[in-house]
Amino acid sequence: MKEEHMKQTALENGFAAAAVIGTDQIYTVPEYREFCVQNLCGNYNKNYGCPPYCGTPEEMKEKILRYRRALVLQTRNQVKDMYDGEETGRLKKTHTKKTLKLIQLLKEQGMEGKGLAIMAGSCNLCESCKMPEGKPCPHEDMCFSCLSAYCIDAGHLAKSCGMDMSWTGNIVSFFSIYLFDA
Ligand code: SF4
Repeated sequence: MKEEHMKQTALENGFAAAAVIGTDQIYTVPEYREFCVQNLCGNYNKNYGCPPYCGTPEEMKEKILRYRRALVLQTRNQVKDMYDGEETGRLKKTHTKKTLKLIQLLKEQGMEGKGLAIMAGSCNLCESCKMPEGKPCPHEDMCFSCLSAYCIDAGHLAKSCGMDMSWTGNIVSFFSIYLFDA
């Protein structure tokens, strides 16, 4: 599938911007793992897609480099209050849904199906993650991790893609990535 088609389809399906870059342009900072450990999102050690279960920063980087290309997707939305976690959280979930829908659509149109999705937030395929109950993950082949779990520098990513990631004027911005071409 042509990369131009992937980008165009993303724009036609609700994304504000889309770009395809080489995975060697995805800059990671292992020290960012500390932000996960601080657990401001509340998912540390509570979700199979999150640290520490998902893997070390080095293992996560290795996962990225198993693929050659990355479709980077961005949504930008106006909110009433960008410090309202509930409001931005809802948008993050919508971004995830849009990404999953787009991946499905592109697969139906012939995109190779063995890629890897990196999302704006922690895995939410289940109503609540089975990890705290000690139950196995029912969707091991589909569950995902977020950019933070991969220690991806979002600012650097936006720059590599020519995207504006500023949170200004109550506009919030989220990213997701689909890795392909293994
Ligand atoms: S698929 Fe369900 S159990 Fe598995 S990581 Fe995602 S939310 Fe957790």
